[in-house]
Amino acid sequence: MSQQHTTQDWRAMDAAHHLHPFSDTKGLNAQGARVITHADGIYLWDSEGNKITDGMAGLWCVNIGYGRKDLPEVAKRQMEELAYYNTFFKTTHPKVAELSALLASVAPDGFEHVFYTNSGSESVDTMIRMVRHYWSSVGKPEKKVLIGRWNGYHGSTIGGASLGGMSYMHEQGDLPIPGIAHVEQPWYYKHGKDLTPEEFGIQAAQWIEAKILEVGADKVAAFVGEPVQGAGGVIIPPSTYWPEVERICRKYDVLLVADEVICGFGRTGEWFGQTHFGFKPDMFTTAKGLSSGYLPIGAVFVGERVARGLIEEGGDFNHGFTYSGHPVCAAVAHANVAALRDEGIVERVKNATGPYMQQRWREVFGQFAHVDDVRGVGLIQAFTLVKNKATRELFDNWGEAGTQCRDIFFKHNLIMRACGDHIVCAPPLVITKAEIDAMLETAVACLREFEQLVAARS
Ligand code: PMP
Repeated sequence: MSQQHTTQDWRAMDAAHHLHPFSDTKGLNAQGARVITHADGIYLWDSEGNKITDGMAGLWCVNIGYGRKDLPEVAKRQMEELAYYNTFFKTTHPKVAELSALLASVAPDGFEHVFYTNSGSESVDTMIRMVRHYWSSVGKPEKKVLIGRWNGYHGSTIGGASLGGMSYMHEQGDLPIPGIAHVEQPWYYKHGKDLTPEEFGIQAAQWIEAKILEVGADKVAAFVGEPVQGAGGVIIPPSTYWPEVERICRKYDVLLVADEVICGFGRTGEWFGQTHFGFKPDMFTTAKGLSSGYLPIGAVFVGERVARGLIEEGGDFNHGFTYSGHPVCAAVAHANVAALRDEGIVERVKNATGPYMQQRWREVFGQFAHVDDVRGVGLIQAFTLVKNKATRELFDNWGEAGTQCRDIFFKHNLIMRACGDHIVCAPPLVITKAEIDAMLETAVACLREFEQLVAARS
């Protein structure tokens, strides 16, 4: 029984047998993992009884907050009724049908079809196969190349990691696979130079046009991007970027795909990031907020054009997962999405907590000597730790300052994440204004401690 174990026991078992994702096992084991035992609202508790504010909604996924009583009830009922059945061979089940209809109702116009997966990575890999199958179904099998962006993140599977632009991931396992190209990210602070943000947005979009021309438009299947690059450090493109990307994709008959795994289900204050930025993709990938992390489920939303091609011309799509549309995950996702809608949670992010967070975030962090590019939208925000604000000089050893700062937050029981030297924050969407104030008060104290460290070193 786990109740009889102590923190030390769990750490020992973990160190002996558990290989952690995105971790240096040797370093982690020397230190010992923090053992999280329960959670409620925006708070976590560890096995030592510390109460921790989760400024990251887990991994940007617990949109509805922790500790809901209704979602486990739904899961229990569904497990008792139909714990599992597949959707491969001419069968469906009530919850997956109901979820599909609900998703079509919250999606932007023109998205009437979804394909289910178990994670963001699987959604991305499914999208890659679907895009290529679409083009070959409509008589253009040579259109195979997908263009992603450097520093974009699209998951850890071979397809997702290839399409993503994390060079430290490419280094492990001979990635990217063939048929993937990358362009530079729309990071104004670093690449904007003398341009206005609006001019830079157009320029960054035109890097995609240049890549399409370099590869050959007849070979390019799709451009894929996160509306806001999440794991890349909350890179928010200028307002001109996405409409120009859409124009370019249309011009060269290249499919436009949004990876909404983070932005989806309310993070930006809209149901999907594409609405905030004003563009219309042909497909988009989701996971995370679809079930608020209560169970693993993802979905690829397929727009009219691709759906018509696949359905009318595609025949069998030879792709699927044992747990595509798992009844228990589908039931929980349905209850979660209905609650996000019916309790006005997404609306509150748009009209109340999102604008409040953005105003306070800029107020409190704008004043620090080593904090710059203070930015955000809805309930996703970030700033960058810099050596010199006037010259925009970054710290040496990219990521070192970020890790130091993140560790100070962690010590003070506040979770924010370091992506290189970007400090990012994406709390559960149920966070209140009072909780935002309390969280930022702690964060400010942590930043003071960080700046004292920097001052002591120089
Ligand atoms: N796409 C994006 C934009 C993501 O942020 C992530 C995860 N952070 C993924 C895909 C992969 O999702 P998962 O970890 O569920 O496979």
